[in-house]
Amino acid sequence: MRPLLIATRNKGKLVEIEHALHGAPFELVSVNDVPALEGFEPEETGRTFEENAVLKAKAYGERAAMLTLADDSGLEVDALGGAPGINTARYAPGTDADRYHKLLAALENVPDGERGAQFVAVVALYDPRTGTSRTCEGAARGRIMREPHGTGGFGYDPVFFYDDMGKTGGQSTTEEKSKVDHRGKAMEKAREILGTEFI
Ligand code: IMP
Repeated sequence: MRPLLIATRNKGKLVEIEHALHGAPFELVSVNDVPALEGFEPEETGRTFEENAVLKAKAYGERAAMLTLADDSGLEVDALGGAPGINTARYAPGTDADRYHKLLAALENVPDGERGAQFVAVVALYDPRTGTSRTCEGAARGRIMREPHGTGGFGYDPVFFYDDMGKTGGQSTTEEKSKVDHRGKAMEKAREILGTEFI
């Protein structure tokens, strides 16, 4: 089976990507298993999710000399004009909880009917043998709760209510969430492209 590097250091993303690729004919390789990637973390200098996803897939793929999959994702909040967007991971220093508490505080005076938001994910595939890259996108609509609910998922999941699931990411299992979320949708397309173009 052809090795496929999953270029993320985010454990939550890794679990979901591995779930989406379960049974696919690739040998999944973690960044922690490649000595050449020790301490390697390319700077995300792109202006869009797509630019950053491709930038990460290429940087890791070239360095590891391996077919590579990377994900760039974030949260676009209607009441904040689409922010934090590509800056979601850098919205506040500290932990995931520090970041979502900052978001809850920013939306404190926003009424229930105006708390809409969406998660966006772009998954990039890069093959260093041919220099080919492909991207797949997924989005999931929902709204920002007033307080955290549940302890599942990762990142902003406890405060994001997925419309298509009827609960927060914190209240769901990986299996439930991946059927409706941004990453699940992008990964479904990526799995198909991997099987036809990168096998
Ligand atoms: P990236 O690692 O630069 O792509 O940053 C993604 C940011 O969006 C991080 O702060 C994640 O916690 C957050 N994020 C992305 N996808 C999800 C998700 O499925 N649930 C919760 N937070 C997410």
